[in-house]
Amino acid sequence: MRLPRLITMLLASGVTLLIAAILLSTLPAHATERMASPPNDGWYYTSRPSPVSAGRVIDLYVDTDFSEHEKQSLVSAMRQWNYVLNGFVWFRARMLPVNPEPALLAQIRRSHGWVIARVDSRHPVARSGEGTHALAVTTGSRGGFVYVISDRMGNRDFTGVMMHEFGHVLGAGHDGFGLMAPVYSAAMGRCIDQDAVALVARAQRLPMNHLNWCEGPAVGRPPLPMAQVPHADYRTPMAARQR
Ligand SMILES: [Zn+2]
Repeated sequence: MRLPRLITMLLASGVTLLIAAILLSTLPAHATERMASPPNDGWYYTSRPSPVSAGRVIDLYVDTDFSEHEKQSLVSAMRQWNYVLNGFVWFRARMLPVNPEPALLAQIRRSHGWVIARVDSRHPVARSGEGTHALAVTTGSRGGFVYVISDRMGNRDFTGVMMHEFGHVLGAGHDGFGLMAPVYSAAMGRCIDQDAVALVARAQRLPMNHLNWCEGPAVGRPPLPMAQVPHADYRTPMAARQR
């Protein structure tokens, strides 16, 4: 979609603010992601120089049904992945039209884009197999769907859940600990840790020594300016989550 047309659609649809935020996040990582933000309990992202100017783009098509808060969280999750991937691979988000035609969805699939769909627990994907206990389900490879089962999210950190699902979009499987652990925990999902980045680096064939990840206060280094990190809620109960 051409930018002027997108902007026209935006203005027409009255979601200008949101889209502006999403457009911001579509810029290459090094252009926007280094803006300072307050440290989060001593957690910070590493800050390696960006050796590439233009990497591979993964298009995300976002359902209009998400709330403003959820959309902001989606943007935050994208921005953090764009930051850690350091320009080698980056997410670009667009809004889906209301009630998208099947032909459009098929076209997105053919172009290896991903649809981020807001569903509820009555949706078939939430009622079969492991989806029965999932907060979100990601299906596909080189394009597909991320289904967010909205009525199961409760007060869980939406950004953390989406960073986990975007890890799957990037080819990561599950890991025993950290962001890509199969079971949701707010403390482990607060930011994109080295293990999660390593899984994606392997899947995408990226050089680890040029990527970023978050490190905790135990590492003993002072907090640095970093991309936004979600505010984890340590009281959030554990719940199943799967790809
Ligand atoms: Zn998963």
